[in-house]
Amino acid sequence: MVLETYPVVIIGAGPAGLAAAMQLSRQGHQPLVLERSRVGGLLWNANLVENYPGFCQGISGPELVSLFQEQAKYLGVGIAFEEARLTEFDGDAFRIETDKRKLAARVLVAATGTKPKELPEGLLVPGLAERVFSEVYPLLNCSGKKVIIIGGGDAAFDYALNLAKANQVVVLNRGEEIKALSLLFDRALAHPQITYHAHAELRSLAVDRDGKLEFAISLGSKMQNLVGDYLIAAIGREPAMDFAAPSILKDIDQLQVNRRLYLIGDLKNGLFRQTAIAVGDGIRAAMEIVQYLSKEPL
Ligand SMILES: Cc1cc2nc3c(=O)[nH]c(=O)nc-3n(C[C@H](O)[C@H](O)[C@H](O)COP(=O)(O)OP(=O)(O)OC[C@H]3O[C@@H](n4cnc5c(N)ncnc54)[C@H](O)[C@@H]3O)c2cc1C
Repeated sequence: MVLETYPVVIIGAGPAGLAAAMQLSRQGHQPLVLERSRVGGLLWNANLVENYPGFCQGISGPELVSLFQEQAKYLGVGIAFEEARLTEFDGDAFRIETDKRKLAARVLVAATGTKPKELPEGLLVPGLAERVFSEVYPLLNCSGKKVIIIGGGDAAFDYALNLAKANQVVVLNRGEEIKALSLLFDRALAHPQITYHAHAELRSLAVDRDGKLEFAISLGSKMQNLVGDYLIAAIGREPAMDFAAPSILKDIDQLQVNRRLYLIGDLKNGLFRQTAIAVGDGIRAAMEIVQYLSKEPL
């Protein structure tokens, strides 16, 4: 296999990776962007983005993604739909493998976002891949269904508001603490299609004779059964670092200090996971890379 070499490779075409690619492109560089699923990343799930400047009444996640895509196309950003794995840094370049090819990159931008936390073992029922999700995106075209959502954060209530436009939704929070914006929680509580339960823990999950999901839930000290069509687990997310081999993880701080590796967006933003922050990270990384490449030409 021939080794293809690029000055800059970006892994992930969510808001962070796209912004970095667009800025590099504006500054005369052509990075290769590798994306394993769809352009826009997690933003596809956002019901109404009200804090991205420029959209006075807010904009839905999918609409914002479509504008990002149009802009990326206008700026000539190239995106290859391949899952990337960073295998090593050989002192001069990163080695990257996809299912189609082997690549080398002088500078690497990791914009891989987050991955969902795993469901508790008791809820891992085999054969339910089409019924149990960690994002709302696969259900956006559903109507007339009953969807159970577990979680008490922004994502749980945002998913509920999104699905309640055409479905019935039950949100189960195992405690009583609400980790969501009060604006989202208040909207969900006021919605006639959304039922909210605190101190409600999903204990087990099975499929009944009609093919519906059967949930056993503890509600305070009582047990209750509930039947529904889908489950969304909005129980938290963690950085998606699986793309990097152990040898890269070992040297990750030094590679960043040496300006060879940039971690941007949700991947490194902890609790501050927002589109505008991810975009800002991407633009800043791109500007720093241009400065680096001008001093250290290939
Ligand atoms: C329900 C919900 C509502 C939200 N509402 C808002 C809001 O109102 N306002 C706001 O500002 N933000 C909101 N957000 C947050 C926003 O979506 C994220 O902050 C933003 O998408 C982060 O961008 P990112 O590029 O860092 O990561 P992501 O969007 O997660 O993109 C990462 C990309 O990397 C790809 N990838 C990962 N690993 C690999 C690999 N090995 N090879 C190739 N590709 C890979 C993934 O497929 C993905 O496309 C919301 C999020 C959710 C879930």
